[in-house]
Amino acid sequence: MGECWSSSGDDFILNRSSHREFLHCLLSGFRYSILRYNHFVSKQAGLYIHIPFCARKCAYCNFNTTDFFDDLADNYIRALETEIVFWGARLVEELSKKLSIDTIYFGGGTPSIVEAGQLARIIAACQSAFDVSRDAEITVEINPSTFSRQKIEGWRDAGINRASVGVQSFLDRELVSLSRTHTAADARQTVDALREAGFANISLDLIAGLPHQTLKDWEFNLCEALRLRPEHLSLYLLEIKEGTQLYAEIKRNRQPRPDDDLAAEMYRMISKATGGEGYEHYEISNFALDHLRSRHNMKYWTDAPFYGMGCGAHSYDGRARWVNILRTESYIDSIAGNGFAIGERRELSLEDRASEALFMGLRLREGIDLAAFRREFSIDVADRYRDELENLAEAGLVEMRDDRLRLTLEGMLLSNEVFVNFV
Ligand code: SF4
Repeated sequence: MGECWSSSGDDFILNRSSHREFLHCLLSGFRYSILRYNHFVSKQAGLYIHIPFCARKCAYCNFNTTDFFDDLADNYIRALETEIVFWGARLVEELSKKLSIDTIYFGGGTPSIVEAGQLARIIAACQSAFDVSRDAEITVEINPSTFSRQKIEGWRDAGINRASVGVQSFLDRELVSLSRTHTAADARQTVDALREAGFANISLDLIAGLPHQTLKDWEFNLCEALRLRPEHLSLYLLEIKEGTQLYAEIKRNRQPRPDDDLAAEMYRMISKATGGEGYEHYEISNFALDHLRSRHNMKYWTDAPFYGMGCGAHSYDGRARWVNILRTESYIDSIAGNGFAIGERRELSLEDRASEALFMGLRLREGIDLAAFRREFSIDVADRYRDELENLAEAGLVEMRDDRLRLTLEGMLLSNEVFVNFV
């Protein structure tokens, strides 16, 4: 099955006949792959809601963000409600019942910048358009500069039960160098206020390998995070992305290039320190206490379906991947005209899906169940990649045991180098 259609740029808006073509495309795709799809939809889906607004662009960030204005946010939230209604109805047409959802994730941008009542409206729209399970995990990403006790109570009352706090560092000088809009004290207060409001599932984000960061600085950040005893930690190594302020500063020699060896030492320190405190290192950058993994992010790593609402949001339904129009204003216009705002869509062959499932599954500590992979994709990974796997195992980057293929700790550190072997 070839591509249905794609746009060449951000501002693509479907006209009426393209709209009909798109719906036809979805339906014919549905008939074509109905057998595989029936198996696929048994996996519960997740919803990702993108809130693109930020108070200021952070120095390392290349996410799809835009400046915050009240009017724009109002229009955007209304567009999100419309898009949710569109997809809810669209999937009822396909499945003859509402799509079953067990995670909702507000990501950004800065979801905590908008009013709690606006997020509550989105949750209500999801509950009416989809079959949202009673114990659904509903996460909001929080920038500590935007929290207030009132907002936190509003999130809790709206059903949000998981908070992901973008701390990034507990050293104010590092936060300044990243152009973050908060202090370490703000982050601590956010966590305290979340606990007081009864949040029992909190995740903290930290970034390691910052310019000028020493091993001692990183140890301090890690210890401070562990002292707060969050249920979940996302600990990333800094990546310098083209187009960011940091990229430009490094290029002009105003900031030092990150030191790979030092970053590797930081990564090993993470694994040791979190393990010692009872955290499960369950994914390359993610650590969970008491098995409280991110249920939403697990969907990305286990080939489960997810639907993204909002500008630049990605979706995957087992047959295709698509991404919404990036620009906030163009997204709003497209929703007003069509109900949906797809910018680009790619149909997936079984081979595409297998290769993606391999990459994504290897990110998890438990790796790939080779027998299940053979059943689902008719591919014997051990046979197809025999030479590559032998070399990787010899280098200590992968291990194969009990019919499972997984990365070692060193393999997780060098995951990109491992993954190129399976392209
Ligand atoms: S708050 Fe998050 S999304 Fe916004 S600019 Fe900073 S890193 Fe990017």
